[in-house]
Amino acid sequence: MHRFKEVLDNRHEYAKNWKARTGGKVLGYFEPYTPEEVIYAASALPVRLLSRHEPDDMTDRNIYASCACARDIVNQVALGRFDYVDGITYAEACQWMRHAFISSQYFQSFSYTCDIFVPDYVDGHRSKDVMYSEMKAFKKSLEEWTSNTITDEALDHAIDVYNTNRRLMRQIYELRRADNPIVSGAEAMEMVLASQVMDKEDHNRMLQEVLKELPRRSHAGYPGPRLMLVGSPTSDANLERLVEELGAVVVIDELCTGSCYFWNEVIPQEDRLLALSLRYLGKPHCALKDNNWRRRPAHILQLYEDFNAQGVIIAKQIYCHPHGTDNPHIWKILRERIYPFHFLERDTTVPEREMKTRLEAFINLVEPVRVKLRG
Ligand code: SF4
Repeated sequence: MHRFKEVLDNRHEYAKNWKARTGGKVLGYFEPYTPEEVIYAASALPVRLLSRHEPDDMTDRNIYASCACARDIVNQVALGRFDYVDGITYAEACQWMRHAFISSQYFQSFSYTCDIFVPDYVDGHRSKDVMYSEMKAFKKSLEEWTSNTITDEALDHAIDVYNTNRRLMRQIYELRRADNPIVSGAEAMEMVLASQVMDKEDHNRMLQEVLKELPRRSHAGYPGPRLMLVGSPTSDANLERLVEELGAVVVIDELCTGSCYFWNEVIPQEDRLLALSLRYLGKPHCALKDNNWRRRPAHILQLYEDFNAQGVIIAKQIYCHPHGTDNPHIWKILRERIYPFHFLERDTTVPEREMKTRLEAFINLVEPVRVKLRG
């Protein structure tokens, strides 16, 4: 299990070794609407640029008052941490990430940059055509950049590898529906984060090994109040670890770096690019894309009930406008169902003692409810 955290902690080394091993290019991406299968089919490695939450004294001069995630990615680029990244692409979602995409180009010259327009109304009747034309343009630009032709066979292989990864991650998450789940929230989050910085075939192999090992695990699982994590994207499992040190267990999340990243598969069809367009438009909505037909609240409630959660932690990055504007609606649906929740804000660094006290109080609040329910 620890291998996923090792890769995550040493993700730059992993990518550099991959380049040395394959001679391929690394394409960095900022948002989960990036059609990775097309990049993979071009024999390039898609790597999500994840923040490291390191305080810095530089970014505020370049990316005014944005969220910690976006600021820190620019800081990592400026520090040369992504020097192995040959190109970057931004699939339209959050404006702070757009800032990070643009500002990163002041600190590092990339041989390829691509801006993919993803409709905000992902369910709109025109969105399929827009995404499809963007997908075709993206494919063409990647073929020119890599000098590799992206064939239907290469797309089929990429779709198969990615769907296998999604299916294996769903298997891991299914294990968390059990009482005293055998996989902790921190472990599951490190697995899905590692998948966003690794070659999916390597990640699939590791997942298959772990799924064989898990039934032989010595300990009896993770007891305690069952909590759900909702909110802004995260790039580590520190919050899950803190919650689980306090005696609770995180059984499910609705994060764009978590379950939302792999929840739905590509449904193969003759036109591969159309199949991919529908998959990315159809993924669980992030707060920014949940406009016309509100799907996110129902999805959150479905996960809460399916994973038998007993409380929700809503963790928002400071200055995170998408979740800031959506939270009141999420609070309302949770209140209507009398589902306990705790709202907290995070910045680059987390005041651990204060966070611990607040989380402990919330967990103590949920515990009696849980005991009474178990009766
Ligand atoms: S969604 Fe929130 S956390 Fe993510 S980049 Fe945008 S503002 Fe930052």
